[in-house]
Amino acid sequence: MKKFIAYTCCVLTLISCQTNETSVDESATIKKIYDNALTTDLAYNQLERLCKEAPGRLIGTPNSFIAVELMKEYLEGMGFDNVFLQEFSSPAWICHSASASINLEGEEIPLKIDALGPSGSTPKQGISAEIIEVFSLDELRELGKEKVEGKIVFYNRPMSATHYNVFQAYGEAVDQRYWGPSAARDLGAVGSITRSLTYNLDDFPHTGSCRLEGEKIPAIAVSTNDADKLSKALKANPHLKVNIKVDAEDIVTDTYNLIADLKGSEKPDKYIVVGGHIDAWHNTEGAQDDGIGCLQSTEVLRLFKENGIRPKRTIRAIMYMDEELYQSGGNSYLAYSKENNIKNYFAMESDAGGYTPRGFTIDASEKVIAKMLEYKHYLEPYGIHYMIAGGGGVDIGPLKELGVPLCGFRADWQRYYDIHHCANDTFEQVNMREMQLGSAAMASLIYLIDKYDLAN
Ligand SMILES: [Zn+2]
Repeated sequence: MKKFIAYTCCVLTLISCQTNETSVDESATIKKIYDNALTTDLAYNQLERLCKEAPGRLIGTPNSFIAVELMKEYLEGMGFDNVFLQEFSSPAWICHSASASINLEGEEIPLKIDALGPSGSTPKQGISAEIIEVFSLDELRELGKEKVEGKIVFYNRPMSATHYNVFQAYGEAVDQRYWGPSAARDLGAVGSITRSLTYNLDDFPHTGSCRLEGEKIPAIAVSTNDADKLSKALKANPHLKVNIKVDAEDIVTDTYNLIADLKGSEKPDKYIVVGGHIDAWHNTEGAQDDGIGCLQSTEVLRLFKENGIRPKRTIRAIMYMDEELYQSGGNSYLAYSKENNIKNYFAMESDAGGYTPRGFTIDASEKVIAKMLEYKHYLEPYGIHYMIAGGGGVDIGPLKELGVPLCGFRADWQRYYDIHHCANDTFEQVNMREMQLGSAAMASLIYLIDKYDLAN
């Protein structure tokens, strides 16, 4: 879950509509979908395998290939009409190790850190330099080259706790991680440290992407507890030095999006896409981000098939590679669609956590949004309380260029940054009922859209 700004801008634009234009009562079919989802643990068990057998599955890593293979086998066993790999080539970044320490009264104290992607590497002995603490990029620029050159910049502004919308708080703080390393480098800094983006005071470093084109410096995130420790130590000794070691490499790799189709009966050449991303940061099992989105998407196909629902259009589940680093999977599916003249009718994404379902955000014309709202009352008994204008998601985002209506599944978000991009994002944090309520909500909405169409 990376791009959130468009979403947060629109999140308060609540639109409500109670009319029902479906010609028959669909409540019984929706209940059937939910009943099946809530009593089937196949996807939940497969999520466990994905998390435990292929953690840290960042693009180009051995585990990314194991993850694709694991999911491919699983989907082939489901008896869908078509399961295949959509191959493409992309830059990738492999992190071998990262560590940092400060020297306090003669003792070397390790810090809980992790490398941001794609951090630069250091010599084996690491780099050591004085630290300069700032709370914004503007503050750094005001200090200027004279005060920054040769130092390691430490961005230490916490996420604001006062926003109800946690994605808004993240959006306001993430510039330190995303743009911070290059801003520091441009002023002659030799490294960059960012406070982890989470509300919790804990020992998990939360990684993520940064934009580092051209010359690269080491860029790391530090846990919130150690960010506070570092800040305090700096007050006691403004000349405190930190040592950072990063061993990472940039490569180019062949890789895949994994695709499964359930063929449509009337318009098989029109596709309803539903997806999540199969990659996960090097420090995590990637359960909520975004193994769960992959499994919920494949559940949509299974729930159609098991309930004997034959879609009019082909339902296509896509497990995108590389949402986290360069977003090459989403862009490559757009290129694939153009090359092969694929008609994507609608696209849905689940990449905002798999907690209790709350609603959907829609990036489409007002007419399409109004049409989708006609289906909302069927989902309200299951806790879907909003369908509002907002972003679809990073992986389906490129399809906007082709005019495809986009839709993002939204779960309750208050705990999302407890686990985001850190070792705390484990299978054990996933609740099967919450996950399957999401699968059923996604399948039900797709069922209604396919059956009753979208306005054009
Ligand atoms: Zn994600």
